[in-house]
Amino acid sequence: MPELKIQQAVIEDVFHSLKTSRTGLSDAEGRRRLAEFGPNQVQRVQGRHWSRMLAAQFTHFFALTLWVATALAFFAEYRQPGEGMATLGLAIIGVIVINGLFSFWQEFKAERTLTALQKVLPHRVKTVRQGQVQEIPAAELVPGDLVVLAEGDDVPADCRIVEAFGMRVNTATITGESLPVEKTQHPAEGFELIHAPNVVLAGTSLVSGLGRGVVFATGMRTAFGAIARLTQAATEVQSPLQREIAFLSRIVAGLAVGLGVVFFLLGQRLGLSFWENLIFAVGIIVANVPEGLLPTVTLALAMASQRIAKRNALVRHLTAVEALGSATVICTDKTGTLTENRMSVQAAFLGAARVPAQELIAQAAHQPGIRQLMETALRCENVSERGNGAGPSTLLGDPMEVALVRMARAALPGQAEGHRADEIPFDADRKRMSVFYDGAGAGTLHTKGALETVLPLCTHLAQDGGTVTLTAERMTAFRAAEDEMARTGLRVLALAWRPLPEPIPRQQWECDLILQGLVGLEDPPRPEVAQAVRTCQEAGIRVIMATGDHPRTALAIGREIGLYGREDPVLITGDQVTRMSDAQLQLQLDAPHLLFARTAAGDKLRIVKALQAKRHVVAMTGDGVNDAPALKAADIGVAMGIAGTDVAREAADLVLLDDNFASIVAAVEEGRAVFANIRKFLTYILTSNIPEIVPYLVFVLLRVPLPLTIIQILAVDLGTDMIPALGLGAERPGPRLMRQPPRGYHRRLIDTALIARAYGFLGLLEAAVAMGAYFLALRDGGWSYGEALGKFDPLYLQATAACLAAIVVTQVANVYLCRSQRESAFTVPFASNPLIGIGVLVELALILLIVYTPPGHLIFGTAPVAAWAWGAALAGALLMFGLEEARKAMMRAWERRHPGAAPHATSGNHP
Ligand code: ATP
Repeated sequence: MPELKIQQAVIEDVFHSLKTSRTGLSDAEGRRRLAEFGPNQVQRVQGRHWSRMLAAQFTHFFALTLWVATALAFFAEYRQPGEGMATLGLAIIGVIVINGLFSFWQEFKAERTLTALQKVLPHRVKTVRQGQVQEIPAAELVPGDLVVLAEGDDVPADCRIVEAFGMRVNTATITGESLPVEKTQHPAEGFELIHAPNVVLAGTSLVSGLGRGVVFATGMRTAFGAIARLTQAATEVQSPLQREIAFLSRIVAGLAVGLGVVFFLLGQRLGLSFWENLIFAVGIIVANVPEGLLPTVTLALAMASQRIAKRNALVRHLTAVEALGSATVICTDKTGTLTENRMSVQAAFLGAARVPAQELIAQAAHQPGIRQLMETALRCENVSERGNGAGPSTLLGDPMEVALVRMARAALPGQAEGHRADEIPFDADRKRMSVFYDGAGAGTLHTKGALETVLPLCTHLAQDGGTVTLTAERMTAFRAAEDEMARTGLRVLALAWRPLPEPIPRQQWECDLILQGLVGLEDPPRPEVAQAVRTCQEAGIRVIMATGDHPRTALAIGREIGLYGREDPVLITGDQVTRMSDAQLQLQLDAPHLLFARTAAGDKLRIVKALQAKRHVVAMTGDGVNDAPALKAADIGVAMGIAGTDVAREAADLVLLDDNFASIVAAVEEGRAVFANIRKFLTYILTSNIPEIVPYLVFVLLRVPLPLTIIQILAVDLGTDMIPALGLGAERPGPRLMRQPPRGYHRRLIDTALIARAYGFLGLLEAAVAMGAYFLALRDGGWSYGEALGKFDPLYLQATAACLAAIVVTQVANVYLCRSQRESAFTVPFASNPLIGIGVLVELALILLIVYTPPGHLIFGTAPVAAWAWGAALAGALLMFGLEEARKAMMRAWERRHPGAAPHATSGNHP
């Protein structure tokens, strides 16, 4: 109706004006409209353009420091030509360029990885096409599509509601209103579109209820599209780890500058020329500024999220990777995460005895009690059917309801499905749902849910085709039957009904019900979960089940997966949590085994907070709308990719693509590995700082020719060290990693142990080998102490080349030593990380180019290294290798004698 606004029109006119109907569009029409209207996507505001990302690499703090150094070098050349200052200036420009490009590449790759990961989980929506409910990507929705919406769904496009049951929508993203707004299908006068009670807009989400709506605007034409440009702030906050690295880089840079100044002053005291002195100082600064650290860490985190994705979990923020690595508790729900969520009805209880499912189906035709139970099973559901008319159709929806409908259809073939007039949808806090079924003067109400929420509503019990009063004794029999079914791990549901000849207000529906019986459904544990639980136990991670299900069912499943041994866990029900104070709850958490059952969503939030108050790092799973606050509060909110709602997914840090508990454990393992890896490459990079600084000390204090020039230092830091370091960042998690307790969340990345090992041990050994090679080469050429050598003296060039070669050879040994802080290098599978092998080959190729080719000689001030000097460097490297192996062996022996003082998960991820 063009003259009426969409919110004012009656439903039939809405259908008419959008050229659609209650059976939706045809597939062909859907495709045609897609071509005409374009995909239903809000164009993202462009992320940072690559050119800006690139420019940023040349203008940040470190780059600016280096530019100043370049200017100084050229100024020195101008004042005192012929000292090689111009070469140095050019070399520093080279450093800025190489480093900038490398950092850019790493950042670009990290960003691309994340964007690619976001796309793994396309947003899918249910829409009615050719009369059938189908699931299609949200991007393919077109105006005229009839979408099916349920609690927790994001509204995918602007829709006019045509059917609504208890629908409440969170419109905060559009209107800023924080309380959910009720929505209905009735025409409305006097409202703006965005406030109309019969319109739901893209970008909002259903807090409760369900319904259907006709799409009238998609993509950038939606109200959200119009404001999207304003609201999309592409902010990826820095994780604590990244912040720590940035902080650390600044400290090291500050130290480098301090060191430069000290050397400058020292040189002045010793009477060196001003310019020479200045250049040394600049060299020290350049050599020690850890330019590439932050991008390398970011890339390591991004690569870890890629590996996590391969193991079926999607990281939504890089921050989550490191939180995962330090998780101490995983709170998990049961249904679908620990179990398969493939349900089948096993048995029922109708008041006398347990009846197996096959018998129920067989007797439904003759026994009115069973028939009525089946009717409730058939009607009280939200299952939709997908199929093309040919062949068998599939049922979509809650697996428990699918199992009930399947059973009821087998029992009552050809049953007309009538008309569902209204509904109070399922809600995890009420733990039941009711459907009003309009049958031409013979209306009925059907309710199903947890026994304890249904029983108080019942006054009668169905028996032999009639009803009897539900006495206390009969209630007890039902509770006992529920208990017994739950003990064997079945999920138990109570079914009830009442005749409702006339429609009455919904508030009066759920009373005077007739209890029909209990149904027990089997949902087997996932096969891989038991192993994952064992892994957690070995890794010192507590697993706490927090389920909405019955305590006994939860206990039985917990036993099956090895969560509880002989001893019973401390059981806390949702009611008890509500009654406890925070302090009481916190005290309960000390029990070795815990089980939260019949929890409501609010309980989960309190559990998270109480665990965090005990300094735990908490991973919490959830799938419903009500779980969102708990997921946000948890250190790692985990949502289900298959069964979860959009709202839960958006609140989460990690989305499980297969809803499987084992995938959380895999993600934790990768999170631990990344932390250990970062420590490995830090050790590796920091080690070579010592053989770079010692030559200056020797030069200044012993007054010998400078053993290692600035350009040679740069060759190591930005050439030969680069790829092996990256290789260490990509190490796979080893078997030991999950046999150690979690590292403390607040444990720093760089601690004294790391510094002592890198600087105090490995670094000094490397420096000794390098200095040894230098002086041997000098002596071999007939040099004697006190003799001055010119900058271009062949003997000097040979000796500094020998020093550089020795550093590179010892760094090759070092990369293998750094693969584990604790274990022998021989226990780490040699070929398990090809990037390290490639890194070493590149490293060796570079040093050969530097010492044996004319351009290498020219740029780096080297001359060919004699064969014996290589031999000496190799001997030194082997000595260093042996000493570090001995140190590790001693450390292991010490740990065996002091088993309590086990190292943290960061000590290495290899056996
Ligand atoms: P978990 O929290 O481990 O996923 P759960 O699926 O049992 O377990 P909820 O979805 O909160 O947890 O359900 C709680 C209880 O509500 C169930 O044990 C069941 O008794 C009842 N229930 C669940 N789904 C339905 C439904 N579709 N209709 C009626 N009652 C239901």
